[in-house]
Amino acid sequence: MAHELSHLVLKHDLTEIREVNGMPFRTCRPDEEEQATAFGGTLMLPRPLLLGAVRRQWGPAQIAEHYGVTEEMARYRYNTTGVAKQVRGR
Ligand SMILES: [Zn+2]
Repeated sequence: MAHELSHLVLKHDLTEIREVNGMPFRTCRPDEEEQATAFGGTLMLPRPLLLGAVRRQWGPAQIAEHYGVTEEMARYRYNTTGVAKQVRGR
């Protein structure tokens, strides 16, 4: 849902129509899909929240459990934001 909401907030054009298993659905350009995934992750796990979690020495599994996101998403945000490095550097 955060991913789809991101498409709306970022005003992406849902122009392409693709078919998966006989079901047509609208989609965006690949670069806009990437933007929606990145922004969706930011909506679910904003940086200040991640910094707080890392200061409590939580890893992706604990973050996922506490904030109700998949461990995959928690790990993606944990790694791409560099929060662990930022906290360790202090
Ligand atoms: Zn999308």
